[in-house]
Amino acid sequence: MVKAISLVSGGLDSLLATKLILEQGIKIEGIYFSSVFYSLKQSNSSISSLITRELEIPLKILDISSELLEVVKAPKYGYGKNLNPCLDCRILMLKKAYQYMKESRAKFLITGEVVGERPFSQRKGALSFIEKDSGLEGLILRPLSAKLLKPTLAEEKGWVDRSRLLDLKGKSRKAQFNLAKELRLKNYLTPAGGCLLTEIGFSQRMRDLLRYNPDFNLKEVRLLKIGRHFRLNSKAKLIIARNHEECESLKNLSEDGDLIFYPQDRKGPLGLGRGQFRKEDISLASAILARYTDNKTNSLRVIFKKSYSPQENFLIAPPLEEEILASLRIA
Ligand code: SF4
Repeated sequence: MVKAISLVSGGLDSLLATKLILEQGIKIEGIYFSSVFYSLKQSNSSISSLITRELEIPLKILDISSELLEVVKAPKYGYGKNLNPCLDCRILMLKKAYQYMKESRAKFLITGEVVGERPFSQRKGALSFIEKDSGLEGLILRPLSAKLLKPTLAEEKGWVDRSRLLDLKGKSRKAQFNLAKELRLKNYLTPAGGCLLTEIGFSQRMRDLLRYNPDFNLKEVRLLKIGRHFRLNSKAKLIIARNHEECESLKNLSEDGDLIFYPQDRKGPLGLGRGQFRKEDISLASAILARYTDNKTNSLRVIFKKSYSPQENFLIAPPLEEEILASLRIA
């Protein structure tokens, strides 16, 4: 029995593409690429259970966070609308999938790409460019748009019947929704699959990091997913938690040398300062924190201390004015 590897994200297109080929009697193993750049709402376990429930195929999960981090810092083919380096990212995923395909003795790859669905990475020219650049010419079957593309090895060898493949193109997803009903596909993720690099707010935070701390690591990226972010100066930034869960996450992600801020005797969030804080930066950070307590008018006592140190200091800070606050806010 011929075996293929399908790149599944949990989104509708990749699930449909896989189903279409399963119906042709091909043995399929799924591969899901996880990354630090996915939304916190998207856990590996929930996605893998969705995929295996809908497709009933074995699934391999590969974390590409470290490689993708380097790609985001300097993509060879640039960014899309936000800080999403989709061309480089797809090439990275396909190369990884190809490696796995060879290891597991599969014959070809399947993706859910649709011609013209995404302006940056799914133009017809971009699809063949990605294929060429990843050294996979003829090995990537895109069942949803196959009839608009050159026949692949799987069709030429007769493993897959090309006449049963589709000719979908463009952004409208009406045909996919109809097909989902036909194939009894009930659960799938919304388009874009939770990649934060396609979001404006997250991209602004990433740009700030690229500018002021270009050697950043995965831990810094994890911090970008939490709280409100403020740039105090080129060497200091502050993060204010938005709820109890984020307070705990900030504490867990804090490192030696960070500063922790919190209000004394009042309900309010936790702030994490990273970088080099001068006296005036501590005052500014305390005023920002004071603004996010349950008292937005009066000065209050803000505790600050080095993370992992029992030694507490305090100062009296007035809540920062909205206009100044807005000018410091990254996103
Ligand atoms: S949307 Fe995100 S995960 Fe998807 S190809 Fe683009 S950068 Fe990669």
